[in-house]
Amino acid sequence: MFTGASGVPETAGSSGSRRVLVTGGAGFIGGHLCERLVGEGYRVICMDNLRTGSLDNVKHLRSEPNFEYVDHDVTTYIHVPGGLDEIYHLASPASPADFERIPIPILKVGAIGTYNALGLALAKDARFLLASTSEVYGDPKVHPQHEEYWGNVNPIGIRGVYDEAKRYAESITMAYHRHHRVDTRMVRIFNTYGPRMRSHDGRMIPNFIGQALAGEPLTVYGAGEQTRSIQYVDDLIEGMFRLMRSEETRPVNLGNPVEYTVAEVAELVLSLTGSERGVEYLPLPEDDPKRRCPDITRARESLGWEPQVGAEEGLRKTVSCFSER
Ligand code: NAD
Ligand code: UDP
Repeated sequence: MFTGASGVPETAGSSGSRRVLVTGGAGFIGGHLCERLVGEGYRVICMDNLRTGSLDNVKHLRSEPNFEYVDHDVTTYIHVPGGLDEIYHLASPASPADFERIPIPILKVGAIGTYNALGLALAKDARFLLASTSEVYGDPKVHPQHEEYWGNVNPIGIRGVYDEAKRYAESITMAYHRHHRVDTRMVRIFNTYGPRMRSHDGRMIPNFIGQALAGEPLTVYGAGEQTRSIQYVDDLIEGMFRLMRSEETRPVNLGNPVEYTVAEVAELVLSLTGSERGVEYLPLPEDDPKRRCPDITRARESLGWEPQVGAEEGLRKTVSCFSER
Protein backbone atom coordinates (compact mmCIF):
# COMPACT_ATOMS: atom_id res chain seq x y z
CA MET A 1 0.00 0.00 0.00
CA PHE A 2 1.49 3.35 -1.01
CA THR A 3 0.05 6.50 0.56
CA GLY A 4 1.29 9.58 2.40
CA ALA A 5 3.06 12.75 1.35
CA SER A 6 6.23 10.95 0.29
CA GLY A 7 4.49 8.08 -1.52
CA VAL A 8 6.18 5.56 0.80
CA PRO A 9 4.63 2.41 2.28
CA GLU A 10 2.32 3.42 5.11
CA THR A 11 2.54 0.25 7.17
CA ALA A 12 2.77 1.81 10.62
CA GLY A 13 -0.53 3.65 10.46
CA SER A 14 -1.24 7.35 10.06
CA SER A 15 1.54 9.74 11.04
CA GLY A 16 -1.02 12.17 12.54
CA SER A 17 -0.35 11.70 16.25
CA ARG A 18 2.44 9.16 16.25
CA ARG A 19 5.08 9.69 18.89
CA VAL A 20 8.72 9.12 18.01
CA LEU A 21 11.97 9.12 19.98
CA VAL A 22 15.19 10.09 18.19
CA THR A 23 18.31 9.28 20.24
CA GLY A 24 21.27 11.37 19.09
CA GLY A 25 18.64 13.78 17.76
CA ALA A 26 20.84 16.85 18.25
CA GLY A 27 23.56 15.42 16.02
CA PHE A 28 24.15 16.19 12.35
CA ILE A 29 21.88 13.46 10.94
CA GLY A 30 19.57 13.52 13.97
CA GLY A 31 18.78 17.21 13.48
CA HIS A 32 17.79 16.64 9.84
CA LEU A 33 15.72 13.59 10.83
CA CYS A 34 13.87 15.48 13.60
CA GLU A 35 13.11 18.26 11.11
CA ARG A 36 11.67 15.77 8.63
CA LEU A 37 9.59 13.98 11.27
CA VAL A 38 8.15 17.21 12.70
CA GLY A 39 7.35 18.27 9.12
CA GLU A 40 5.49 14.97 8.59
CA GLY A 41 3.31 15.64 11.65
CA TYR A 42 4.99 13.33 14.18
CA ARG A 43 5.38 14.23 17.85
CA VAL A 44 9.14 14.09 18.25
CA ILE A 45 11.22 13.58 21.38
CA CYS A 46 14.85 14.41 20.63
CA MET A 47 17.19 12.86 23.21
CA ASP A 48 20.87 13.72 23.37
CA ASN A 49 23.75 14.33 25.78
CA LEU A 50 25.47 16.76 23.37
CA ARG A 51 28.76 14.84 23.43
CA THR A 52 29.28 15.46 19.72
CA GLY A 53 25.96 17.15 18.89
CA SER A 54 24.72 20.67 19.44
CA LEU A 55 21.45 22.39 20.24
CA ASP A 56 22.17 24.56 17.19
CA ASN A 57 21.16 21.54 15.07
CA VAL A 58 17.59 21.68 16.40
CA LYS A 59 17.22 25.31 17.45
CA HIS A 60 14.81 25.97 14.56
CA LEU A 61 12.53 23.22 15.94
CA ARG A 62 12.40 24.19 19.59
CA SER A 63 9.39 26.48 19.22
CA GLU A 64 7.41 23.71 17.45
CA PRO A 65 4.65 22.28 19.70
CA ASN A 66 5.38 18.76 18.36
CA PHE A 67 9.05 18.92 19.31
CA GLU A 68 10.58 18.23 22.71
CA TYR A 69 14.27 18.13 23.65
CA VAL A 70 15.42 15.86 26.49
CA ASP A 71 18.99 16.02 27.76
CA HIS A 72 19.94 12.44 28.60
CA ASP A 73 22.84 10.02 28.25
CA VAL A 74 21.37 6.82 26.79
CA THR A 75 24.02 4.69 28.48
CA THR A 76 21.95 5.21 31.64
CA TYR A 77 18.39 3.89 31.99
CA ILE A 78 16.03 5.65 29.55
CA HIS A 79 12.69 6.70 30.95
CA VAL A 80 10.11 8.17 28.58
CA PRO A 81 6.68 8.77 30.08
CA GLY A 82 3.67 7.86 27.90
CA GLY A 83 3.40 5.82 24.73
CA LEU A 84 5.96 5.58 21.93
CA ASP A 85 5.37 4.28 18.40
CA GLU A 86 8.85 4.46 16.94
CA ILE A 87 12.48 4.81 18.08
CA TYR A 88 15.26 5.93 15.75
CA HIS A 89 18.47 5.04 17.61
CA LEU A 90 21.24 7.31 16.31
CA ALA A 91 23.16 8.15 19.50
CA SER A 92 26.87 7.55 18.87
CA PRO A 93 29.88 9.66 17.96
CA ALA A 94 30.76 8.92 14.33
CA SER A 95 33.92 10.78 13.34
CA PRO A 96 37.18 8.77 13.11
CA ALA A 97 38.78 11.77 14.85
CA ASP A 98 36.79 10.76 17.95
CA PHE A 99 37.83 7.10 17.93
CA GLU A 100 41.07 7.82 19.84
CA ARG A 101 39.70 10.80 21.81
CA ILE A 102 36.64 9.09 23.36
CA PRO A 103 36.94 5.32 22.72
CA ILE A 104 35.16 4.13 25.86
CA PRO A 105 32.04 6.35 25.50
CA ILE A 106 31.80 5.06 21.89
CA LEU A 107 31.88 1.43 23.05
CA LYS A 108 29.42 2.18 25.86
CA VAL A 109 26.86 3.95 23.68
CA GLY A 110 27.01 1.21 21.02
CA ALA A 111 26.58 -1.54 23.61
CA ILE A 112 24.79 -0.24 26.71
CA GLY A 113 23.01 2.61 24.91
CA THR A 114 21.62 0.21 22.31
CA TYR A 115 20.63 -2.28 25.04
CA ASN A 116 18.73 0.49 26.88
CA ALA A 117 17.06 1.76 23.71
CA LEU A 118 15.95 -1.78 22.77
CA GLY A 119 14.61 -2.32 26.29
CA LEU A 120 12.55 0.83 25.86
CA ALA A 121 11.27 -0.41 22.46
CA LEU A 122 10.24 -3.70 24.08
CA ALA A 123 8.49 -1.97 26.99
CA LYS A 124 6.63 0.47 24.73
CA ASP A 125 5.96 -1.98 21.87
CA ALA A 126 7.65 0.56 19.59
CA ARG A 127 9.23 -0.09 16.19
CA PHE A 128 13.03 0.31 16.50
CA LEU A 129 15.48 1.50 13.84
CA LEU A 130 19.22 1.16 14.43
CA ALA A 131 21.59 3.58 12.70
CA SER A 132 24.41 1.19 11.84
CA THR A 133 27.27 1.89 9.49
CA SER A 134 29.32 0.79 6.47
CA GLU A 135 32.09 0.41 9.07
CA VAL A 136 30.67 -3.03 9.92
CA TYR A 137 32.35 -4.08 6.63
CA GLY A 138 35.72 -2.75 7.95
CA ASP A 139 38.41 -2.67 5.25
CA PRO A 140 36.30 -4.70 2.83
CA LYS A 141 37.55 -7.55 0.67
CA VAL A 142 34.30 -7.57 -1.33
CA HIS A 143 33.43 -4.73 -3.66
CA PRO A 144 30.93 -3.10 -3.82
CA GLN A 145 29.67 -4.06 -0.37
CA HIS A 146 26.34 -5.89 -0.25
CA GLU A 147 24.49 -6.68 2.96
CA GLU A 148 25.34 -10.40 2.91
CA TYR A 149 29.07 -9.61 3.28
CA TRP A 150 30.30 -10.19 6.87
CA GLY A 151 33.15 -7.70 6.72
CA ASN A 152 36.85 -7.50 7.54
CA VAL A 153 37.30 -5.68 10.85
CA ASN A 154 40.36 -5.40 13.09
CA PRO A 155 38.84 -5.69 16.60
CA ILE A 156 41.92 -4.30 18.36
CA GLY A 157 42.78 -1.43 15.99
CA ILE A 158 41.87 2.20 16.71
CA ARG A 159 38.75 1.99 14.52
CA GLY A 160 37.69 -1.21 16.33
CA VAL A 161 35.97 0.71 19.14
CA TYR A 162 33.42 2.09 16.68
CA ASP A 163 33.24 -0.84 14.26
CA GLU A 164 32.81 -3.47 16.96
CA ALA A 165 30.35 -1.32 18.95
CA LYS A 166 28.17 -1.09 15.84
CA ARG A 167 28.56 -4.81 15.10
CA TYR A 168 27.50 -5.55 18.68
CA ALA A 169 24.58 -3.11 18.26
CA GLU A 170 23.46 -5.06 15.17
CA SER A 171 23.76 -8.37 17.06
CA ILE A 172 21.74 -7.23 20.06
CA THR A 173 19.15 -5.68 17.75
CA MET A 174 18.71 -9.04 16.00
CA ALA A 175 18.59 -10.83 19.38
CA TYR A 176 15.73 -8.55 20.54
CA HIS A 177 14.06 -9.10 17.18
CA ARG A 178 14.31 -12.91 17.31
CA HIS A 179 13.99 -13.49 21.04
CA HIS A 180 11.62 -10.70 22.16
CA ARG A 181 9.91 -10.14 18.78
CA VAL A 182 10.78 -6.44 18.80
CA ASP A 183 9.89 -4.95 15.41
CA THR A 184 13.34 -3.81 14.26
CA ARG A 185 14.92 -2.09 11.26
CA MET A 186 18.61 -1.63 10.53
CA VAL A 187 20.29 0.87 8.22
CA ARG A 188 23.98 0.67 7.28
CA ILE A 189 24.83 4.28 6.53
CA PHE A 190 27.67 5.08 4.12
CA ASN A 191 29.58 8.41 4.33
CA THR A 192 26.95 11.13 4.59
CA TYR A 193 27.52 14.88 4.57
CA GLY A 194 25.56 18.09 4.38
CA PRO A 195 24.67 21.37 6.06
CA ARG A 196 25.15 21.65 9.83
CA MET A 197 28.04 19.19 10.12
CA ARG A 198 30.48 20.41 12.76
CA SER A 199 33.26 22.34 11.04
CA HIS A 200 35.75 20.81 13.54
CA ASP A 201 34.24 17.32 13.14
CA GLY A 202 37.40 15.80 11.68
CA ARG A 203 35.68 13.92 8.86
CA MET A 204 36.78 14.38 5.25
CA ILE A 205 34.12 16.74 3.88
CA PRO A 206 33.82 19.21 6.78
CA ASN A 207 37.64 19.24 7.00
CA PHE A 208 38.06 19.95 3.28
CA ILE A 209 35.34 22.64 3.12
CA GLY A 210 36.51 24.31 6.34
CA GLN A 211 40.12 24.32 5.13
CA ALA A 212 39.23 25.64 1.65
CA LEU A 213 37.12 28.47 3.11
CA ALA A 214 39.87 29.36 5.58
CA GLY A 215 42.40 29.57 2.72
CA GLU A 216 44.34 26.57 4.02
CA PRO A 217 45.59 23.57 2.01
CA LEU A 218 43.29 20.52 2.13
CA THR A 219 44.72 17.71 4.27
CA VAL A 220 44.66 14.55 2.13
CA TYR A 221 45.61 11.43 4.10
CA GLY A 222 47.90 8.96 2.34
CA ALA A 223 48.10 9.35 -1.44
CA GLY A 224 44.36 10.10 -1.57
CA GLU A 225 43.77 6.96 -3.65
CA GLN A 226 41.38 5.37 -1.12
CA THR A 227 37.76 5.62 -2.23
CA ARG A 228 34.49 6.62 -0.60
CA SER A 229 30.96 7.13 -1.83
CA ILE A 230 29.47 10.37 -0.55
CA GLN A 231 25.78 10.71 0.17
CA TYR A 232 23.89 13.96 0.65
CA VAL A 233 21.96 14.00 3.92
CA ASP A 234 18.49 14.54 2.36
CA ASP A 235 18.83 11.26 0.46
CA LEU A 236 19.71 9.41 3.66
CA ILE A 237 16.76 10.89 5.57
CA GLU A 238 14.37 9.84 2.80
CA GLY A 239 15.78 6.31 2.92
CA MET A 240 15.58 6.06 6.72
CA PHE A 241 12.02 7.36 6.69
CA ARG A 242 11.03 4.78 4.06
CA LEU A 243 12.83 1.98 5.89
CA MET A 244 11.00 2.69 9.15
CA ARG A 245 7.70 2.43 7.30
CA SER A 246 8.63 -0.66 5.28
CA GLU A 247 8.45 -4.31 6.29
CA GLU A 248 12.18 -4.85 5.59
CA THR A 249 13.81 -6.22 8.76
CA ARG A 250 17.15 -7.16 7.17
CA PRO A 251 20.02 -4.62 7.19
CA VAL A 252 19.80 -2.11 4.35
CA ASN A 253 22.73 -0.16 2.88
CA LEU A 254 21.97 3.52 2.28
CA GLY A 255 24.66 5.38 0.38
CA ASN A 256 25.38 6.96 -2.96
CA PRO A 257 27.00 4.30 -5.17
CA VAL A 258 29.13 6.75 -7.15
CA GLU A 259 32.68 6.08 -5.97
CA TYR A 260 35.32 8.83 -5.70
CA THR A 261 38.92 8.79 -4.58
CA VAL A 262 39.64 11.11 -1.67
CA ALA A 263 41.89 13.13 -4.01
CA GLU A 264 38.94 13.60 -6.40
CA VAL A 265 36.73 14.85 -3.54
CA ALA A 266 39.49 17.31 -2.62
CA GLU A 267 39.67 18.54 -6.23
CA LEU A 268 35.90 19.01 -6.33
CA VAL A 269 35.94 21.06 -3.12
CA LEU A 270 38.83 23.18 -4.42
CA SER A 271 36.95 23.92 -7.62
CA LEU A 272 33.62 24.69 -5.89
CA THR A 273 35.23 27.05 -3.39
CA GLY A 274 37.65 28.62 -5.86
CA SER A 275 40.51 27.89 -3.46
CA GLU A 276 43.99 27.86 -4.97
CA ARG A 277 45.82 26.53 -1.93
CA GLY A 278 45.85 22.91 -3.23
CA VAL A 279 46.41 19.91 -1.00
CA GLU A 280 48.86 18.84 1.68
CA TYR A 281 49.57 15.10 2.07
CA LEU A 282 49.53 13.67 5.60
CA PRO A 283 50.04 10.06 6.78
CA LEU A 284 47.20 7.61 6.25
CA PRO A 285 45.55 6.67 9.58
CA GLU A 286 45.73 3.05 10.79
CA ASP A 287 43.25 0.62 9.17
CA ASP A 288 41.77 3.32 6.90
CA PRO A 289 39.51 1.36 4.50
CA LYS A 290 40.93 1.34 0.96
CA ARG A 291 37.68 1.08 -0.97
CA ARG A 292 34.13 1.71 0.08
CA CYS A 293 31.04 1.73 -2.10
CA PRO A 294 27.55 0.42 -1.36
CA ASP A 295 25.57 -2.11 -3.33
CA ILE A 296 22.11 -0.53 -2.99
CA THR A 297 20.09 -3.25 -4.76
CA ARG A 298 18.20 -4.06 -1.55
CA ALA A 299 17.25 -0.41 -0.91
CA ARG A 300 16.08 -0.08 -4.51
CA GLU A 301 13.99 -3.26 -4.32
CA SER A 302 12.61 -3.00 -0.77
CA LEU A 303 12.18 0.75 -0.44
CA GLY A 304 11.99 1.99 -4.03
CA TRP A 305 14.81 4.30 -2.95
CA GLU A 306 17.49 5.91 -5.09
CA PRO A 307 19.83 8.80 -4.24
CA GLN A 308 18.71 12.02 -5.95
CA VAL A 309 21.53 14.45 -5.18
CA GLY A 310 24.87 14.22 -6.96
CA ALA A 311 28.19 15.14 -5.35
CA GLU A 312 28.55 18.51 -7.06
CA GLU A 313 25.06 19.70 -6.10
CA GLY A 314 25.33 18.37 -2.53
CA LEU A 315 28.79 19.82 -1.96
CA ARG A 316 27.66 23.19 -3.37
CA LYS A 317 24.81 23.33 -0.83
CA THR A 318 27.16 22.31 1.98
CA VAL A 319 29.79 24.88 1.00
CA SER A 320 27.14 27.57 0.98
CA CYS A 321 25.97 26.60 4.48
CA PHE A 322 29.56 26.56 5.79
CA SER A 323 30.23 30.00 4.24
CA GLU A 324 27.15 31.50 5.90
CA ARG A 325 28.34 30.22 9.28
P1 NAD B 1 26.90 13.19 15.26
O1 NAD B 1 28.09 13.03 16.15
O2 NAD B 1 26.63 14.53 14.69
O3 NAD B 1 25.58 12.69 15.99
C1 NAD B 1 25.58 11.73 17.04
C2 NAD B 1 24.74 12.26 18.18
O4 NAD B 1 24.69 11.28 19.23
C3 NAD B 1 25.33 13.54 18.80
O5 NAD B 1 24.35 14.53 18.91
C4 NAD B 1 25.82 13.08 20.17
O6 NAD B 1 25.83 14.13 21.12
C5 NAD B 1 24.82 11.98 20.48
N1 NAD B 1 25.31 11.05 21.50
C6 NAD B 1 26.52 10.44 21.56
N2 NAD B 1 26.59 9.69 22.67
C7 NAD B 1 25.40 9.80 23.30
C8 NAD B 1 24.86 9.26 24.50
N3 NAD B 1 25.57 8.42 25.26
N4 NAD B 1 23.59 9.61 24.87
C9 NAD B 1 22.85 10.46 24.09
N5 NAD B 1 23.31 11.00 22.95
C10 NAD B 1 24.58 10.67 22.57
O7 NAD B 1 27.08 12.10 14.09
P2 NAD B 1 26.16 11.79 12.83
O8 NAD B 1 27.02 11.85 11.65
O9 NAD B 1 24.93 12.61 12.88
O10 NAD B 1 25.79 10.26 13.10
C11 NAD B 1 24.53 9.87 13.59
C12 NAD B 1 24.43 8.34 13.59
O11 NAD B 1 24.61 7.86 12.25
C13 NAD B 1 25.50 7.66 14.43
O12 NAD B 1 24.93 6.52 15.06
C14 NAD B 1 26.53 7.23 13.42
O13 NAD B 1 27.25 6.09 13.85
C15 NAD B 1 25.66 6.91 12.22
N6 NAD B 1 26.42 7.03 10.96
C16 NAD B 1 26.73 8.24 10.41
C17 NAD B 1 27.46 8.30 9.23
C18 NAD B 1 27.81 9.60 8.55
O14 NAD B 1 28.47 9.57 7.52
N7 NAD B 1 27.41 10.76 9.02
C19 NAD B 1 27.89 7.12 8.61
C20 NAD B 1 27.57 5.90 9.22
C21 NAD B 1 26.82 5.86 10.38
N1 UDP C 1 40.51 12.01 5.02
C1 UDP C 1 41.45 12.84 4.45
N2 UDP C 1 41.64 14.08 5.00
C2 UDP C 1 40.91 14.54 6.06
C3 UDP C 1 39.93 13.69 6.63
C4 UDP C 1 39.76 12.42 6.10
O1 UDP C 1 42.12 12.49 3.48
O2 UDP C 1 41.16 15.69 6.48
C5 UDP C 1 40.30 10.69 4.42
C6 UDP C 1 40.31 9.52 5.41
O3 UDP C 1 41.64 9.03 5.59
C7 UDP C 1 39.42 8.52 4.70
C8 UDP C 1 38.42 9.39 3.95
O4 UDP C 1 38.99 10.68 3.87
O5 UDP C 1 40.16 7.76 3.79
C9 UDP C 1 37.06 9.53 4.64
O6 UDP C 1 37.31 9.86 5.98
P1 UDP C 1 36.16 10.25 7.01
O7 UDP C 1 36.85 10.72 8.25
O8 UDP C 1 35.18 11.16 6.39
O9 UDP C 1 35.39 8.89 7.34
P2 UDP C 1 35.67 7.33 7.12
O10 UDP C 1 35.06 7.00 5.81
O11 UDP C 1 37.14 7.03 7.12
O12 UDP C 1 34.98 6.69 8.26
